[in-house]
Amino acid sequence: MQSKYIWINGKLMNGAEVQMPFLTPAVHYGMAVFEGIRCYRAVNGPAIFRLREHMERLLKSATVMGWRELPFTAGQLIEACVETVRANGHEECYIRPLIYLGAGGWNLNLDGGQAQVGIAVWQWNAYLGPEATENGVRANVSSYTRHHPNVSLTKSKVAGNYPNSVLAKTESVRLGFDEAIMLDTQGMVAECTGENIFLVRDGKLLTPPDAQILEGITRDTVMILARDMGMEVIAQPISRDQLYTADEVFVTGTAAEVVGLREIDFRTIGNGRTGPITRKLQQAYHASVRGELPRSAKWLTYVPSK
Ligand code: PMP
Repeated sequence: MQSKYIWINGKLMNGAEVQMPFLTPAVHYGMAVFEGIRCYRAVNGPAIFRLREHMERLLKSATVMGWRELPFTAGQLIEACVETVRANGHEECYIRPLIYLGAGGWNLNLDGGQAQVGIAVWQWNAYLGPEATENGVRANVSSYTRHHPNVSLTKSKVAGNYPNSVLAKTESVRLGFDEAIMLDTQGMVAECTGENIFLVRDGKLLTPPDAQILEGITRDTVMILARDMGMEVIAQPISRDQLYTADEVFVTGTAAEVVGLREIDFRTIGNGRTGPITRKLQQAYHASVRGELPRSAKWLTYVPSK
């Protein structure tokens, strides 16, 4: 994974020369909030999907963690993302902005520290494997519980929350699955390690309620697209066994996009392939990120050519 140019605190730098000092507090205490965003080859050229929403979530992540002042506004960071993609010359790429505790705060008091900001980009293809879109993937319910909001704030996309995802994902992959489904502290379905989850029942979409999950931007997009198709979408508590008996189950995320779960805990879901509603939403999502749907034009920020 390489980013030819990385934007650091307002300046584009040669990526090979950007080094993070060993004594960067973010590395020691996990105080770094980030986003995962994608740029797609859209109808009128490379375009970043829902960039403003991602930047607003990034700043909210920082607010949730207690940062009171940041060196850049959402508008400046939006411009910086465009500039970084353009400089790197990608038509399609993944974009990673990071606000991190760059100096100070060693006494665990954020107010003694200094926030710094970086943006890197790289090419990244099928996150859950090349056949995931077609065939769906296999998941299990993790032995690890998702964070409780009063332990580690689930609304912040903060680096320090991600060992929870890494534990679960590593365990699942070692067991031979592709992804882990995580339950919340009440034992209800929360989300996956880097995706939100939906189930299809009698033509309706069900998804866990907002309170304890990271409210994914892909989740929001899929909910809008499903309602556009006339589908009912309900956010409600979902139990593990409701997954087993669903007509279809799928996950959503910027990296994964829309991927069906064909098997959960050794139970075949639906017909054991990507189900028809998942397929329709997948196609609508792929069309929307490329600006092919009337509503999706406003979701794109085009990157001017060099
Ligand atoms: N849940 C978690 C824990 C995540 O890390 C992600 C990826 N950002 C998601 C859900 C999906 O969010 P989005 O659709 O905004 O990528």
